[in-house]
Amino acid sequence: MKPLKGVTALVTSGPTYEPIDPVRFLGNRSSGKQGHAIAEALRDAGARVTLVAGPVAIADPQGVAVQHVTTAREMLAACEAALPVDVAICAAAVSDWRARRVSKQKIKKQGKPPVLELVENPDILRTLSRSKSRPSLVIGFAAETGSLLKNARAKRKAKGCDWIVANDVSGGKGFDAEDNAVTLITAHSAEPWPRMSKQHIARTLTTHITHHLKERV
Ligand code: C5P
Repeated sequence: MKPLKGVTALVTSGPTYEPIDPVRFLGNRSSGKQGHAIAEALRDAGARVTLVAGPVAIADPQGVAVQHVTTAREMLAACEAALPVDVAICAAAVSDWRARRVSKQKIKKQGKPPVLELVENPDILRTLSRSKSRPSLVIGFAAETGSLLKNARAKRKAKGCDWIVANDVSGGKGFDAEDNAVTLITAHSAEPWPRMSKQHIARTLTTHITHHLKERV
């Protein structure tokens, strides 16, 4: 039984790297494990999946269309090119900022340290949530280090997505770890899930997606 047969899904995963010069970048420690696991769980449920992956050290999932990108702007372009889809899950840890100017030469040490001017990157989750071809279900992640529910609820509204998978990353939990304790926040509920592997979270989320899409038919 493939409950998501005929359903199309878009998943973002991993970090983005924002170049500063030819050898340096701004990035983060996202491993891509959670996003890749979600792409695999959706595939196993029968969905046709596009995975837009930032620079990660893990293998491409089989049976999924993988688009490799480096920067947030490339990630947004690849996501927009994948529309329309039924479901979008933004699990990537997108860099909030990029360098205003990227030096063509490696920046040299010369007396004073350089001052890096940053500009904001596009918000992919927000853009997809407000797109003309908005997926019928848009899901974001929120890694918070305090006031988890309050911040995640506010984030759900600010981004315009349907669900937020909220994750407490205080004290090194979550990032680059094998398992996670998350709370699924919808317009009407906040459902804490027990601590479980990222694969298990992916399968549980897929079950919720399946139920939600069935209810809408
Ligand atoms: O605002 P914050 O980064 O905490 O939001 C996290 C959620 O927003 C995640 O789902 C992440 O994938 C998404 N996001 C995005 N584009 C950004 C920043 C965050 O899609 N530029």
